[in-house]
Amino acid sequence: MSKKFDVVVIGAGPAGYVTAIRAAQLGMSVACIDDWKNHDGSLSYGGTCLNAGCIPSKALLESSELVHRAKYEFAAHGIDTGPVKVDLAKMQQRKAGIVKQLTGGISALFKANKITALQGRGRLLKDRKVEFTPHAGKVEILRGKNVILASGSVPVELRQVPFDGKTVVDSWGALEFDSVPKRLAVIGGGVIGLELGSVWQRLGAEVVVLEALDDFLFMIDRQIARDTLRQFKRQGLDIRLGAKVSGATRGKSGIRLEYSNSKGEQEIEVDKVIVCVGRRPHSVDLFEQGCGVTTDSRGFVEVDEECRTGVADVWAIGDLVRGPMLAHKGSEEGVMVADLIAGEISEVNYNTIPSVIYTAPEIAWVGQNEEEVKKSGRAYKVGTFSFAANSRAKAMEMATGMVKIIAARDDDEILGVHIAGPMAGELIAEAVLAMEFSASAEDLQRTIHGHPTLSEALHEAALAVDNRAIHAVNN
Ligand code: FAD
Ligand code: NAD
Repeated sequence: MSKKFDVVVIGAGPAGYVTAIRAAQLGMSVACIDDWKNHDGSLSYGGTCLNAGCIPSKALLESSELVHRAKYEFAAHGIDTGPVKVDLAKMQQRKAGIVKQLTGGISALFKANKITALQGRGRLLKDRKVEFTPHAGKVEILRGKNVILASGSVPVELRQVPFDGKTVVDSWGALEFDSVPKRLAVIGGGVIGLELGSVWQRLGAEVVVLEALDDFLFMIDRQIARDTLRQFKRQGLDIRLGAKVSGATRGKSGIRLEYSNSKGEQEIEVDKVIVCVGRRPHSVDLFEQGCGVTTDSRGFVEVDEECRTGVADVWAIGDLVRGPMLAHKGSEEGVMVADLIAGEISEVNYNTIPSVIYTAPEIAWVGQNEEEVKKSGRAYKVGTFSFAANSRAKAMEMATGMVKIIAARDDDEILGVHIAGPMAGELIAEAVLAMEFSASAEDLQRTIHGHPTLSEALHEAALAVDNRAIHAVNN
């Protein structure tokens, strides 16, 4: 006999586990199936984000940033540390400890919310039945009044440079190096490439980033992209744009990568390669053929604005479906779906999802960039403010980067906010809230900000939209 639940969730990443908790809060009986297995064979909840993505990468970014600051920035504060030594094993242990605490926290939340947590593979069959294959033991059939697919994504592999788990690794492998590679190539100059490239460069590796496109960070505002590219290069990241990798040859002293750019055929020799050229939805063998769920040409499960698959009471969320591959996007979709199942009104505002790149400078944005606004044909005005004129950033010895606000000329509505600079990922929250409430630039202008704070740069950029910044010369 099959076990019955109001909701069966497949996947316990930030999309799936949040859905399970929200559904349980709303009084539903919930089962959540997850097949995550760590490199050491242990099992844990939290998916890519907690085990191999957001959390371990941010732990290493934080540690390596401190190394960089101690080496190159403390002196400006009058602090002499002597030679800075890195204990990589301890740094990795700290990271692993944080991951363990947080993934353990999810198990505890499942228990507290009386969620039936199952470790193994889930597969959707017809009529909302779910086949559960445990890591050990017998296959079971569960029946859900609702089924939510949240199986996430996996790294894209490059045919020319296949992963071998040692020399050529994906982002997960790159979070677990036990020594700092002397020469490191990063293929793909996107979010992961810059974050992990920064980690290992700060810890002493010579890092070359090979990016296929001629544009740096094509998805961000061009002004911010130009500004940050200059800063990354100054830090020593060797970013090569328009570099198309054609092959890899293993030699005795490393791995040789062949690539072409506008100047012709090139090659470099390195000790390790991180391939991070994007991720693809994890939809293979997730559902029985003929159950009605469909995927697009890239494997994303097709859904509408409310994450309905088109099969009654079967939903799909997170990296598995269209939209940015971000943890908070998946979590919000999960909350929406649980609310909708419970009959509540709920939606995700896809226009106000913030993005953050945790490099130095940190880059964060929400809404449209200038190129997108221009393309839309709507008349607009721009205000910028440099952190060089922000007193808190000066006190922190981090006075680089800028805030840029784009507002509509007709009704002053804020259309996009772009930040590169200290704590950009924290500062963007104010912009998200403003846009969520359809605020105007004037609303931000009239909002009182504490002094001295980094948030004053946002205030000044809003003032600059109407040429009334106080601590800058207006146009
Ligand atoms: P996942 O987190 O991938 O979880 C899916 C879960 O489902 C996994 O546990 C998987 O094992 C399980 N599963 C898959 N198929 C099945 C099946 N058939 N049966 C049972 N279980 C199954 N995003 C941010 O917002 N901020 C960041 O700072 C950030 N940093 C990142 C850093 C790195 C290095 C990487 C790789 C990603 C990062 N991301 C970040 C992206 C973020 O990790 C993803 O957007 C997020 O994890 C997606 O959540 P999800 O729940 O959809 O999928
Ligand atoms: P990405 O899409 O950010 O970047 C991939 C880059 O690789 C692009 O610039 C692309 O032009 C380039 N590329 C593609 N094919 C190439 C090739 N053959 N040779 C050289 N370059 C090539 O993808 P990612 O960095 O792999 O990250 C995957 C996803 O994970 C992203 O969608 C991102 O949203 C998410 N993520 C988010 C964060 C964060 O929020 N801070 C951090 C890490 C990852």
